[in-house]
Amino acid sequence: MKRRMLLIEDEPGLRTTLSDRLRKEGYEVDTAADGESGFLKAMEGDFDLIILDIMLPLKDGFDICRDLRQKGSNTPVLMLTARDETVEKVLGLKIGADDYITKPFETMELLARIEALLRRAVRSPSDNSGPARFGSVQVDFRRAEVTKDGKPVVLSAKEYQLLRYFLSHRGETLSRQRLLQEVWGYNVGTSSRTVDVHVTWLRQKLEDDPKQPRWIVTLHGLGYKFAE
Ligand code: CA
Repeated sequence: MKRRMLLIEDEPGLRTTLSDRLRKEGYEVDTAADGESGFLKAMEGDFDLIILDIMLPLKDGFDICRDLRQKGSNTPVLMLTARDETVEKVLGLKIGADDYITKPFETMELLARIEALLRRAVRSPSDNSGPARFGSVQVDFRRAEVTKDGKPVVLSAKEYQLLRYFLSHRGETLSRQRLLQEVWGYNVGTSSRTVDVHVTWLRQKLEDDPKQPRWIVTLHGLGYKFAE
């Protein structure tokens, strides 16, 4: 079965080149040249992945992604960002994007990210189940919302993905290498330190005592484990 993608990109050259290339890779590709028609297509079509430019006429990529998530769509979203849109800005906004790639990018890098996202999507059965709970934290996968003691917790896209991965592998020993591969995909320049930093942030946001974590436990020399 061919996997279906929606490419929302207003630049005609890039739209054509990318969609041709993706079709050559065996994907079925639909395109949209502005944000409004792109959003409608994304809502109506049954896509496996959405490739979403940020700067778009009529409705920008941030609004599209946020609105899709608010309407309960779990379709993986890969954002195309420009150089001046910093990583922090893209990840920090709680819009529910799954990954991003900065223009100009190598096609091979894009294809690798796409493959990683599609693999991850298949392995996230928790997305369709009810909310997950641990301690006073509740995670609503359908809405991509996290609350602690009933109050909203703002997570970056990567923090959320890491938490989602932990929750779907509760009780398993997860090495930093595995977390990097599964959560970050083929990111150039990521090291195991990246995992540690994100774990620290998650603990600060979710643990009652981040220094004595009850849920995200360090296994010395092995990695991490999310308590059952
Ligand atoms: Ca654009």
